[in-house]
Amino acid sequence: MARTTAAIYPRHPDKSRCRHRLTSRGKATVDECAGRGDYAADCSNCGETLDNSLKVVLEMVIGRHLREHTATTTEA
Ligand SMILES: [Zn+2]
Ligand SMILES: [Zn+2]
Repeated sequence: MARTTAAIYPRHPDKSRCRHRLTSRGKATVDECAGRGDYAADCSNCGETLDNSLKVVLEMVIGRHLREHTATTTEA
């Protein structure tokens, strides 16, 4: 069974995924990039997109989400 993961990636303000190089403050370095709006992560188990404007909060949201999957498969 594959381990469920949800890698965090930055998104533009319009919620599209940002694959550009950003400065440490999330500012754009190329003209076609709008800069970082928030963070998101796609769950590899259910495909749900989790998001939050704060990375530390999103990490907690992901942790809770992944535990929910574990809980449903090992439910007593
Ligand atoms: Zn971008
Ligand atoms: Zn999930």
